[in-house]
Amino acid sequence: MAKPFWEKGIRFECQGTGRCCTSRGSYGYVYLTLEDRRRLARLLKLATSAFTRRYCRKTDGYFHLSDFRGPCQFLRERSCSVYEARPVQCRTWPFWPENMNARSWKREVVAFCPGVGKGRLFSKAEIQERLDQDPVY
Ligand code: SF4
Repeated sequence: MAKPFWEKGIRFECQGTGRCCTSRGSYGYVYLTLEDRRRLARLLKLATSAFTRRYCRKTDGYFHLSDFRGPCQFLRERSCSVYEARPVQCRTWPFWPENMNARSWKREVVAFCPGVGKGRLFSKAEIQERLDQDPVY
């Protein structure tokens, strides 16, 4: 099998633009695991069911934040207001399964996210560990 283009790791460091917190077409959903909903509910001092009713929707069997057009409802001045409880999907950007082919990486990530190529090197194992956390795949 061919080696992935990220075999030798990839440098990444968030530049704080908030761009990945603003939806764009098919990249609009922030999917939520049950643990994500529990963690966010705890932070907001809500029952998980109340958090889910207030902030979530379900599409094709998967929960996601309900606002999937424009900025995330938790984005304040380019910062995440629920940062310590942010969903796994937000923690693992840009190492998402749908991004990790050379074509998508170039078109959807490098062209979009100024953090790629900056900061520390994420090893192949660290990238794989993030890919394995994906809430949908
Ligand atoms: S939860 Fe926070 S990190 Fe995730 S999209 Fe919303 S503002 Fe961004």
